[in-house]
Formats: sequence, structure tokens, C-alpha cells
Amino acid sequence: MRLQKFLAANGVASRRKSEELISSGRVKVNGNIITEMGYKVDLDIDKISVDNKDIILQERKVYILLNKPTGYVTTVSEQFNRKKVTDLVDVPYRIFPVGRLDYNTSGLLILTNDGELTYKLTHPKFKVEKVYIAKVKGIPTKEALEAFENGLKIEDYITAPAKIKILKEINQHTLVEVRIREGKNRQVRKMCEAIGHPVVELKRIAMGRIHLGNLDVGNWRYFTEREIAYLK
Ligand code: URA
Repeated sequence: MRLQKFLAANGVASRRKSEELISSGRVKVNGNIITEMGYKVDLDIDKISVDNKDIILQERKVYILLNKPTGYVTTVSEQFNRKKVTDLVDVPYRIFPVGRLDYNTSGLLILTNDGELTYKLTHPKFKVEKVYIAKVKGIPTKEALEAFENGLKIEDYITAPAKIKILKEINQHTLVEVRIREGKNRQVRKMCEAIGHPVVELKRIAMGRIHLGNLDVGNWRYFTEREIAYLK
């Protein structure tokens, strides 16, 4: 098995983060630092460590759905003492969030120790659809909605086709449903800003076939068998 796959499969980090760990010299195989990507390890004989801590083979994969409250970070190591989503989920596994949600965004967040799943749900090549409900300032015109769907220039990139639908108007604000298949940093906020309707509240309600449903804010649950089957 390739080293980065081993790390991802054992809940150390996502596949991309595992590659970063390897290239930054933090991973050892039998005591020797390995920076070569794709290095093959033999699970029966090799001893693998990250930051000098041995990685124990984990057998059981866990999949958790959290309704993230605002005011929590999705990073696992937080330098500014802010609350972390992993503090909300007390399980005997080293889990990490699949993708990011901003500090001020609420809603569906998947946590797992399955790096392969993280890869499948977050790598841009798989184009997994994410659905958000956003409360934006003002009332977007038809032209603004079309511009949103056709592609917007954000910093140095043009957004891929997206979908936006007005749900209702509330006191000079509008509730919209947004569907995107990319996952650039603060993308929904930047796209709404770009059409002149900044986001005041943002919540994710679905990621691929996984839906938030009626889980209360701050609560979590394990995936159902059916949800696990969706991921295979
Ligand atoms: N887009 C954003 O702007 N923020 C999020 O948290 C998720 C998607």
C-alpha cells in the first residue's frame, strides 16, 4: 500500500493532508524519514510513525453527521483557542472533518477516519454537489441569478456552472438555495458578494446524497447503513 493511502486509511489525515505530511518530512518508516510520494509500505512488517508517534492499524471506519453550529472551526489544530467541531463529537476514534465549513457557517458536516471517503467527497474531479441555504442582503434580480449560474470571476478563477433558487423574501433579505460542485474557500459567500448580495447567514443542508434532515444544531449521529452504502 502506498504511504499516503496508508495514512489516509488509518485516520491520520485526508489524502491530500497526508501527502503534505510526507513531503514535509514528518513521516517515518522503520525510523527513516520518507519524503517520496507513493513509497510502498508492507503493513505486516513496516512500522510507520508521524511526528514520532506510531500509527496503529485501525480496522473500523466511522462516519458521522454533525449539524455544525456557527462559532466553531473545522480545523483539527486550532491556534487561536476557538471552539473546534471535534469537541462536539465524543467518540473513541481519531476523526476529522470532510472538507471545511467557515467559522460562521452552520449545517451538515461529515466527520470520519476514512481518508478515502474524504478524497471522494472533496476532490474537485468528483464534482460532488453541495447544497446551501443562504440568507442574502437585498433581492437578486433575474440577471443577477443568471450571472450566478453561468459563472462569476472570483479573484483568479471563473466559477463552474452553479444553481441558485429564490425560496422567499424576508424584510429586504432573500433566502436562496445554492448548489455548487466546487469547494473553493468561502466560495458561496464570494459568489453572492460578486452579484451584489452579501451573505448574512449560511447553512449547508446536503453533500452528495447525504442530507442534514432534522438533526438539531450541535447534535450528531452515525451514518445509517443506507448512507454508508451511498458512499461505496
Ligand atoms: N461556502 C462558503 O462561503 N462558506 C462555507 O462555509 C461553505 C461554502
